[in-house]
Amino acid sequence: MTKVRTRVAPSPTGDPHVGTAYIALFNRVFAKSQGGEFILRIEDTDQSRSTPESEQSIMDSLKWLGLDWDEGPDCGGPHEIYRQSERKEIYQKHCADLVENGHAFHCFCSTDRLDRLRREQKINSQPTKYDGLCKGLTKEEIAKRHAAGEKSVVRMDIPVEGECIIHDELRDPIAVEYKQIDMQVLLKSDGMPSYHLACVVDDHLMEISHVIRGEEWISSTPKHLLLYQYFGWTPPKFFHLPLLRNADKSKLSKRKNPTSVDYYRKMGILPEALINYLGMMGWTMPKGEEKFLLQEMIDNFDISRVSLGGPVFDVEKLEWL
Ligand code: GLU
Repeated sequence: MTKVRTRVAPSPTGDPHVGTAYIALFNRVFAKSQGGEFILRIEDTDQSRSTPESEQSIMDSLKWLGLDWDEGPDCGGPHEIYRQSERKEIYQKHCADLVENGHAFHCFCSTDRLDRLRREQKINSQPTKYDGLCKGLTKEEIAKRHAAGEKSVVRMDIPVEGECIIHDELRDPIAVEYKQIDMQVLLKSDGMPSYHLACVVDDHLMEISHVIRGEEWISSTPKHLLLYQYFGWTPPKFFHLPLLRNADKSKLSKRKNPTSVDYYRKMGILPEALINYLGMMGWTMPKGEEKFLLQEMIDNFDISRVSLGGPVFDVEKLEWL
């Protein structure tokens, strides 16, 4: 059996979010319940929004909660790069392979053209997606335009027909028709990868066996599965956890609930209490015990028993813990 390796992959673009702590918790608990490893990867490819302060506070909050990682920044182990902004060349090389094999193509379309296209598609009630204009450019044309100083992005090609089936371990299979999927940008014009490319390349190279993330990423999974297929790699197993919700069942938002782990920390909530509360979001102990420690959750964990019922994160209840 392959070794269980899970990861949490936050983007350091703000306060440490309770949603990140919740995903990290389930990843760590699952990995440790299987004798596996839990990895922290910093997804900072959006350089305009990522800050070192946010990265530091995410790491501080995970450590405060006892959700230490086995590999990744600041873990004290052998030096490995788990910060995506420092791995650009790796993604660029993989992207070049996709272009070479005809699974991706250079696109020179201007933002103006793309905006116009989107507007027209909206008016005609069509799915808003790239129309493939640059797909037919020859190698010579591309080289000429690059030599003339034009910048391009690289987009992934999508099969015209057929469908992709997502096998999520917590749900029934989900079928998505390829024609619904956009030809996503993989490499931006500044040479930075998009989330999709970096995520798939890293999950493969970091030997992630189980991707446990929030259900908001289900719509990205068909693109990821296609990329695995294009690269000739075996995909990991996917578990999309239900999103944390406000009491009115809307997606957990700052306006209705404080979402920063730091808020609860400063309020004097004990890390054990926050872990206990987050652990109860979608998970129940075998005998329904409401109070449990991280290690007890690990000792009793069975991921197939995670419930999909839209867990409510209610600050008032937490304050009483
Ligand atoms: N960087 C993404 C996030 O901010 C990671 C999504 C994933 O786990 O694939 O949550």
